[in-house]
Amino acid sequence: MSIKTLRFEGIKKRATKFKKLSEEFSLNQEFSIDQEVEKFLNKDHLAPIIGTICDQQITTEHAWTFPYWLHNKLNGKFSAQSIYKLGTKKIEKLLSLFMEDKWPSGMADKDRKNYLKNISRYIIKTCELIINVYDNDADNMFKNGKFTAPEIYFILRSLPGIGPKKASMIARDFVKAEGPWYKGIQDRLEKKGIKFKVERKNLTEVPVDVHVVKIFGRVMGEFRKTPSRDKFLDYWPDIQNFAKLAFPSFPGKIDEILWLVGRQYCYESEPDCKNCPLKDIPCEYAKRKGL
Ligand code: SF4
Repeated sequence: MSIKTLRFEGIKKRATKFKKLSEEFSLNQEFSIDQEVEKFLNKDHLAPIIGTICDQQITTEHAWTFPYWLHNKLNGKFSAQSIYKLGTKKIEKLLSLFMEDKWPSGMADKDRKNYLKNISRYIIKTCELIINVYDNDADNMFKNGKFTAPEIYFILRSLPGIGPKKASMIARDFVKAEGPWYKGIQDRLEKKGIKFKVERKNLTEVPVDVHVVKIFGRVMGEFRKTPSRDKFLDYWPDIQNFAKLAFPSFPGKIDEILWLVGRQYCYESEPDCKNCPLKDIPCEYAKRKGL
């Protein structure tokens, strides 16, 4: 089976089931972090940006804990100016120290080195931008109060280290009014008399990454092997349109179930189809494997 053989009726049926599943699961994409870390992320304007920049290749929990760890390491001198003054090399050393016992086991040495080099460079460049463009206060990015999802997306995309995936994930969190970054901004701006709101849920898109392509392709029977990254663009229109079919008023919502399945069931080798909530959508991959 594939999109061609499922035909419109088969695809529409799957979209309806996705919607139903998502209501049943009442999914929450918030990750578990220490209370002190969460408090710090809510209080500080810079911490969620650094957490977002770090959030690639390593676990989300570790990425979002780094700002709090750095704050303690710097004896509370955690600001765009003080971090910028430390420079890339020093931040790289500190990040390396933090990551010492937290690297994903399968991450190669070369990738670890690149991670440290790139992330520390992005952190310093972002601090420079916040100092020079936003008057040393990252919340000034959002001081107009009301935004649409695409506006948020491009405000975030202009930050070093925030690519399409991260920008659409955070824009989606803002639309849903959840996540540590959103909660903190809302509280801080409210104290300044600004009501922060992100409107037009229907303009959100699905953040496409390897999990999303893999799960979508397996459910639809589009491929036997997950394609390489340079082929992802081929699936982009199918995924975005399927999301609009399933969730017309909030297409980005589909990411909740894809996120859960990607994290807990749909491993590259030996996916746990038996327990996966998408098995009975039905998933063409699971059907083919007789699961
Ligand atoms: S049923 Fe299996 S292949 Fe299909 S989405 Fe779930 S884990 Fe992946």
